[in-house]
Order: sequence, then C-alpha cells, then structure tokens
Amino acid sequence: MADKSIKIAYLYEDLMNTYGDSGDVKIIRYLLKKQNYTTQIDNISLNDNFDAFDYDFVFFGGGQDFEQTVVAKDLPRHKDTLTNYINSDGPMLGVCGGYQLVGTYYKTNSGITIKGLDILPFHTVFKSDKRMIGDTRYLSDWGEVSAFENHSGQTYFDDKEKLHPLGKMIEGYGNNPQDKVEGLRYHNFIGTYSHGPLLKNLNVAQAIVDAILAWHEKRLAAQ
Ligand code: GLN
Repeated sequence: MADKSIKIAYLYEDLMNTYGDSGDVKIIRYLLKKQNYTTQIDNISLNDNFDAFDYDFVFFGGGQDFEQTVVAKDLPRHKDTLTNYINSDGPMLGVCGGYQLVGTYYKTNSGITIKGLDILPFHTVFKSDKRMIGDTRYLSDWGEVSAFENHSGQTYFDDKEKLHPLGKMIEGYGNNPQDKVEGLRYHNFIGTYSHGPLLKNLNVAQAIVDAILAWHEKRLAAQ
C-alpha cells in the first residue's frame, strides 16, 4: 500500500511565528487531506537534531529581529542538510524572516549583521526609514498572487543569473523598493515576503503540494 503520510518540518515554530504564517502549513495540510494524505508536523527548535531528508516539506516562517537573532545562532548546525536538501529539489518555503535567513546575511536595525545560512546568494538590509507594509499583488509563473507584506528588510540578489524572482510586482514593494520583483524561486525553494498567508493563493499552494508529493515519492523510493 502506498505511504500516505507526509512529514513537515516547521523550523523554529515557537520563535518564528509573529505574522500568522502558520496558516501556510494549515492550508498545505488541508489540501493534502483532500488527497487522503495524513500529515505530521515537527517543530524543529533550538538545539533539536534535524535531517532535512527525513521530511517532505520544510517551512520557515517570519519573525521579528529579536527572534531572528536568537534563531540565527542555532541555525548554522543545519546549513549542510538544508543546502543538500534545497539543491536536491526538496520543497521548502521561507517567509519574510525565514526567507531572509536563507541568504548570506541580514543587517538589522541596530546595525548588527546576522549571518544567514548562506545557501543562496542574496542579502538583506534593514532600512528604518521605509517599512514596506500593505497589500501586494504580483504575477508569478502560476498566475496572479495577492498577499500582505510587512517588513523593513530590503532584499537584493547578488547573483541574478542564478536566482529568479517569485513574481513581478503589480502592487506593493516585494523584495525592495527598486527592483519591482517579489521573492525568490530556486529549484523547489520559494522565498517570499508574502503574509496573509501566502497559500490562501491556491495556485501557489497547489504547486507546492504537487512538488511535495513528487518529492515524497522520490524520498520513499530512495529508502
Ligand atoms: N524583521 C524582519 C523585517 O522587518 C522580518 C519581518 C517579517 O518576518 N515579517 O524585515
């Protein structure tokens, strides 16, 4: 009988949870249930062991600067497993603070530079004079997406050949005020500033579910 049990790693669920992004995980769980899959969601927090390849989906939600600073100290332990996972097409969604920490660094409001996982070549700088807050709309490969953004971090790609945005802005800021693009796609990693949550946009949610199920089959076959 086919294994219909999907494992989700929720990175630092107890710390990175300020902006309601847990709704993304609830929507994934709901869509999987409609396809007769059960889900197990593990909170991977400070000092926990973690092997990304034990999972079908990794979620990393948004948080405020203080929590990001705490999380960033624990995070380097997981750099290798997450790098291999992302490069092997493992599905992962990072929202706002969680997105920022996949890049090389995040320079906070107090001028401290937090090292990110340094998996993908982009960086973020907090600009106190411009909080990007409000409705966003953008055109993704899966059609139009509408969401809400709330960040002061401005994200810039350092290698525009390697990294592709999640969408082109129709309304709002996205990654920063200049580039007119939102988020990032790399293999099955999606980084985004979209709250709301993002996956109320069922076009994106279904694309992620499809990637999760394809990865699940691949993971089981490798066991
Ligand atoms: N603290 C970060 C910023 O303001 C992340 C915010 C968030 O996760 N919404 O850019």
